Parts: sequence; C-alpha cells; structure tokens
Amino acid sequence: MSALKTRVLQVNPTAPEPALIQEAAKILAAGGLVAFPTETVYGLGANALDTKAVDSIFAAKGRPASDPIIVHLYDLAQLPTVAINIPDLAYDLARHFWPGPLTFVLQRSSNVPANVSAGMSTVAVRMPSHPVAIALLQAANLPVAAPSANRFARPSATTAAHVLEDLDGRIDLILDGGAAVIGVESTILDLTKEQPTILRPGGITLEILRTIIPDVEVVTKHLRADDEGIEAPGMLLKHYSPRAELLLFNGIQSALLPAMRTYALQQIEQGRKVGLLLPDHEQSSVADLPVEIVNLGSNASEVGHNLFSAMRLLDQASVDVIMVHGFGQTGLSLALWDRLLRAAEGHIIEV
Ligand code: AMP
Ligand code: MG
Repeated sequence: MSALKTRVLQVNPTAPEPALIQEAAKILAAGGLVAFPTETVYGLGANALDTKAVDSIFAAKGRPASDPIIVHLYDLAQLPTVAINIPDLAYDLARHFWPGPLTFVLQRSSNVPANVSAGMSTVAVRMPSHPVAIALLQAANLPVAAPSANRFARPSATTAAHVLEDLDGRIDLILDGGAAVIGVESTILDLTKEQPTILRPGGITLEILRTIIPDVEVVTKHLRADDEGIEAPGMLLKHYSPRAELLLFNGIQSALLPAMRTYALQQIEQGRKVGLLLPDHEQSSVADLPVEIVNLGSNASEVGHNLFSAMRLLDQASVDVIMVHGFGQTGLSLALWDRLLRAAEGHIIEV
C-alpha cells in the first residue's frame, strides 16, 4: 500500500474540540481511516457502509478478511440500519449497558457490506461511551466499522503512541485522547441463537450479564488451553501477541511465584532475556533477579488497564520471554485470562 502521512491530533478526552472532530468526521465520510480512543481500546474507524473503506482497514492492519469487524453507533435509533430481526433482548440490554463495553452479534442488514462481517450473515454492533468516540460518530453520522487499532495479532493499542507504533504511514489520522481506561476489548454477546452466548469475555462481566440474562453462557473453547477448535470467527488463538514468547503460569497462588522464579533462572542461564509482568505486591519477591519487571497494578481493573501496554513495554526492552500468571477467572479476570491465554498462544505452564 502507498504510504500515507499519518497525522496525530491531540484532543480533549472529556470535551473534544468540535473543529478537530469535524476534521476527523470528514476523513471518515471521504472513505479514509481514523484511529480514535474508546473506553476499551483505540479503534481504527472507517465508514461501515463503504466497502472500499472497510477493505482499507483490513489492508492497514494486515488483518485477514476472515476476521469480522465491530460496527460502532452513537444512537440506538441507528440499530435498524445495520441489523435486522433485532430481538427485544437487544433493546433491553442496550438500555442497561449502552453506551459501554458490550457488543451484540445480530443478523446483518443488507446496508452493511459483507466484508465488515467476513461474509457472514451477522453483524457485531456496539455503542462506545468515550466522549471522543461518541462525538466522532455523531459528527460523521455514520455507522463506523472499527477493530482495535493495532497491526493484526499484536497487542491491542491502548494509547495513541501504540497506534502510531503499529500504523504510522498506513492510516490518515489518529485522535489522541489519552490512554483508554478499561484497556481490554468489549464483551461480545451473540444474540442470534436461542441461547445468548458470550463469544468473548470483556468489560461487561458474565456475572453482570447474568443479572439480566440468567441463562447466558460463555463459549469456553478458546478459554481452555487444550482446544484447537475455533467457535467464533476471528477467535484465533494467536492474538494479542507480543513479539517475545509469552508463558502463562497457572495453579495455586502459593506455587506460582516460586515456579516463575525457577523458570526465570533457567531461562537466564540459557542466555535469554526475561521479562516479568507482575502485580504490585509481587514485585519485591523477584527484585533480586536480573529481569525486566513491569508492574500490572493492584487489582483486576488496573491489570486490564495496563496489560497490553505492559506487553509492548517488554517488547521494547527486547526480552526473549515474558512470564505472567493468571488472576482467576471471575469478573473482569475472565477477560484477562482470555487475553493472556491467546497471547500465550494456548501454552500454559501448570504449577
Ligand atoms: P477487535 O475489534 O479487533 O477486538 O475484533 C473484533 C472481533 O469481534 C473479531 O475478531 C470477532 O471475534 C468478533 N466479531 C466481529 N463481528 C462478529 C460477528 N459478526 N460474529 C461473531 N463475532 C464477531
Ligand atoms: Mg483486535
């Protein structure tokens, strides 16, 4: 693809400047690509009704055409332009959770070109809550297809700097509205089947969804290490990967750090540079090791906020291997487990 000049505009994250938003909206209307902050991660947006513009998302990211893209709306009234046979449950859930990190899979309207959905008859839709995202969607007055603004299979971009690192020269504009707060992608809920199922755990937890849909299930295929099957399109195990090999430790809490320590020492002996991703309170127990350590914070929300940027930091430190452990599988930690497992390409070290 021919090199573009990628511009970066600083925008006020809580009260975005209308002139800047207008400029970005014009680019979208003309078929261009604009990266913008959402509350989950940065999105790479294009007019969802423009086949060519959507094609250019795939080209810019190096994303396979088999990986469908989420369509973003600013108003519930736009929903019938992108989806058909919308169940009442979608409206109920939208009233509770939109704008916010919950995506619905619905039947696709013929207004939405097939390439958005990798040729499938469904479409994924969400309404983001970030003021910059909402302002942009409103100004463009278009449904906007926007996957995460990273090169394919790289950790999702949670800052404008990450977007630039991956997509400089490949997109028109980046709206820099600071770091994405949640840091992990939306929950994807399939509403096209009898039984609502979570295809990807995310910012809205299973426990919260159960308060509205008591029988909601999670597709666990990609949440297990031993599984080769891919239930949801785009749910490739290799995803969100740093360049370094990532090793995911799992097991009883008291055994994790000793096992990671032993493994780290073995790796160092073999001449490999080791990076550790650890929460606050575990830092001191490895302070004597010659390793790179990135602090993930002190609770699941902080780990979510920091996780992808921490992976990128260790890549920049040129480590050969990254070691991390899971944080349980309830609440937001289920989403963290999913992202870690995929970054580890399914390889877990059980201790
Ligand atoms: P991203 O926005 O980059 O985090 O990725 C979007 C993901 O949403 C894809 O990789 C799919 O897993 C999922 N997705 C998007 N559209 C659909 C759809 N129509 N049906 C099922 N999953 C979808
Ligand atoms: Mg992505």
